[in-house]
Amino acid sequence: MSVFAAKKKLAFVTIVYWVLLLYMITALAWWFIALQNQNALMAKMRLAEINKDDPAYLQKVSTIEDSKARKTAQYIGEGATFFALILLGAVFVFNAVRKQIKLAQQQQNFMMAITHELKTPIAVTKLNLETLLRRQLQEDTQQKLIKNTLQETNRLNSLCNNILLASQLEAGLNTTSQQEINLSELVESSVKDFSMRFIDRQIIGNINEAIYIFGEEILIEMLVNNLIENALKYSPKTAVVTISLNQNTNAVLLKVCDEGIGIADADKKRIFEKFYRAGNENVRTTKGTGLGLYLCKKIMQGHNGSISVTNNLPQGSIFTTSFNV
Ligand code: ADP
Repeated sequence: MSVFAAKKKLAFVTIVYWVLLLYMITALAWWFIALQNQNALMAKMRLAEINKDDPAYLQKVSTIEDSKARKTAQYIGEGATFFALILLGAVFVFNAVRKQIKLAQQQQNFMMAITHELKTPIAVTKLNLETLLRRQLQEDTQQKLIKNTLQETNRLNSLCNNILLASQLEAGLNTTSQQEINLSELVESSVKDFSMRFIDRQIIGNINEAIYIFGEEILIEMLVNNLIENALKYSPKTAVVTISLNQNTNAVLLKVCDEGIGIADADKKRIFEKFYRAGNENVRTTKGTGLGLYLCKKIMQGHNGSISVTNNLPQGSIFTTSFNV
């Protein structure tokens, strides 16, 4: 559906919603007034029926007035309850629809991002292979092209892994395949990998030795890689990225600190949602799908741990994952 058609549909749904809500409230008010009038009329007729010479006249009048007041109270009580229920339902429906529309919008952004993320490496790979096939190139140029192609296929691979994993993790993590992992070695090797891939970046590892956790190696690797990749992606080339790993009596703490663009307080919780990307799609320059941190959160949930983000000083973010021990 085009953005214009979606907006038109949303406007139509909003109008129907408000018309229905106003109709229900007006109908409720109308019924209240009608019942009140009927109540007053009944009381008047009953009053007219009693004889003024009757010795129990005053008592009868008071009984009729009492019954009229009781009925009014009953209408007010029932009307107020009904009104409260209508409002409650209206707020519930409003929130549900808004959430649904937001999710649909995010999914659309995701599809656009995915298409872009898939197309670029495919196009680059195709071009490189065609060049290799058609031309007699010098050895070092050939090597460069092959290296570049490999990098692009690696990107494709990790993107596909992320998408597949996201749909698998929806159904919950399978904890039976967890085993003891040397987290120190895993993080160390990840830091080395990134240092080699990004030779112009300063990546520092403060990793305490021999820290073990229980878990699934591939997932933990993915978690660490996603966090380091983000730290590099969302900070300028000159900024340092620091990864630290240590253990206290309650938990194993892995921190990835950057000196980059930072995250606004309003976005701190939302960035862990599926497909969520901070800022506006039009002004965003970085590539991404909004899946990485969602996966990190899911992975930490499946490993008896948690993930959170705080501000780094003077600028940037610190992502802290904590495994309970
Ligand atoms: P992606 O990077 O593919 O957009 P993520 O789920 O990894 O998806 O991150 C979600 C959003 O959180 C990003 O779009 C970005 O706005 C924000 N974010 C993540 N990591 C950082 C970081 N280290 N510094 C600043 N913003 C970040």
